[in-house]
Amino acid sequence: MTTTIPDYPLLISGEKVSTGQLLPVQDKFTGELYAHVHQASKEDVSRAIQEAKRAQATVPFGIPQRYEVLMKAAQIMRSRAEELADIMVAEAGKIKREALFEVYWSADIFTESAEESRRLHGETFSLPVPGLDQKTCYTLRQPVGVVGAITPFNFPLNLVAHKVAPALAGGNAVVLKPAEKTPVIAYKLCEILLEAGLPAGYLQYLGGEGATVGEWMIADPGIDYYSFTGSVKVGKRIKEATGLRRVSLELGSNSATIVHSDADPAAAAAACSQGAFSNAGQVCISVQRIYVHETIYDRFLAELISQAELLKVGDPRQEDTGIGPMIAEKEAIRVQEWIEEAVQGGAVAHTGNKREGAHVWPTVLSNVSPEMKVVNSEVFGPVVSVTPYSTLDEAIDHVNRSDYGLQAGILTNDLQAAMQASRRIRTGGVIVGGTSAFRIGCMPYGGVKNSGIGREGPRYAIEEMTDLKTVVLL
Ligand code: NAD
Repeated sequence: MTTTIPDYPLLISGEKVSTGQLLPVQDKFTGELYAHVHQASKEDVSRAIQEAKRAQATVPFGIPQRYEVLMKAAQIMRSRAEELADIMVAEAGKIKREALFEVYWSADIFTESAEESRRLHGETFSLPVPGLDQKTCYTLRQPVGVVGAITPFNFPLNLVAHKVAPALAGGNAVVLKPAEKTPVIAYKLCEILLEAGLPAGYLQYLGGEGATVGEWMIADPGIDYYSFTGSVKVGKRIKEATGLRRVSLELGSNSATIVHSDADPAAAAAACSQGAFSNAGQVCISVQRIYVHETIYDRFLAELISQAELLKVGDPRQEDTGIGPMIAEKEAIRVQEWIEEAVQGGAVAHTGNKREGAHVWPTVLSNVSPEMKVVNSEVFGPVVSVTPYSTLDEAIDHVNRSDYGLQAGILTNDLQAAMQASRRIRTGGVIVGGTSAFRIGCMPYGGVKNSGIGREGPRYAIEEMTDLKTVVLL
């Protein structure tokens, strides 16, 4: 029996465009060919952007319609959760329960964006100047125009939702290029939006690679705003190429979590294990560095080792699997090399330190030092290091000793310690009572330093993707 491999065309104003240039998409666990995606040409990119511009300028898409479409899309996503999750299990290697969670989480972003579209308010104020105090000034929020959305592989539905839903809620048209390793789920989302009644010109789907399609997008002046999530390297390239056009860059991190002296070692270890190893550590706020108060260090480390040992590595389709494959064998090889480099430099690997194909076993390291890559660079794999500290100041200094600043966590019930850490840690967010790896859709989210520019979360992304216009009535 032969199985047909599906292929996914471009979507240009709702029209399915086959380009004849096919990129393979593998099942990340079996390695088998799962799908093909059509790669856009330079002309396709340019046409998609022009179509988006034309639609945004000429096709009405008022707030009631935006609300309806976004709510309907959320409802369709929930009703097709199993099917959507299975796509992510195949093309991203996600374990099924994490993939299902991602579908519901993404649907919520559509609901929240729909609600926020009804709150696109301006302000009214009088002018406090003699002779003008009876006059009025007010502000309007207007769409920026065309939003170019470029997304990574690790949350291939959620991170697309975080861009497309607020962009549409703000009245923009979107040109979307998802990661080439995980393009199918993004295509399905576009189909769902069209089914939900989105005017077709408001969403253009372009399959293809960053070095070609991505570069053509960032070179095209027809895009007014870039919403990017991915690596620091590509983020810098986008900033450099887009001149005065606005960007939001959600980039990497080597996030830290402090486990303070009053924390329960077992509960803290369970939270840190979850934060370090979910999605095989391929999470931008994954717990990569843990600083533990010296009085509970030994107990915490023993608990974390047991937690890591409980995780079964293997087939993401099996219910008892805790960690699936990484996105590619090449990435797993890199992560294993970084572990070995740390061990050669004196680190102790208490678990893991093992790779087979694209699978890396959850690895707990101690005795690490700041010059090791597993500490100072973004691992983006299932590796965590544990270091003792004696004073909170020392722990905060460790956390801040990083080129990144996305999010940090502190596990404590000590109010003073929590307040001090929240004020002094240089990250976009601090989670008190949890690890760095906490995000819900509605919260403002984004980084400082090399972790990026701008904030996501529907309300904040809509603010960024709309222009504040001032109207003065003299
Ligand atoms: P990546 O930077 O390699 O790719 C991201 C996207 O950029 C892909 O769609 C890719 O095709 C495109 N791209 C590549 N080169 C390009 C170019 N020259 N011009 C335009 N587009 C280009 O990232 P990845 O490997 O897919 O994802 C992992 C990275 O994403 C990690 O660094 C991770 O921390 C980061 N990330 C950040 C967040 C956050 O919210 N801060 C969330 C998830 C992932």
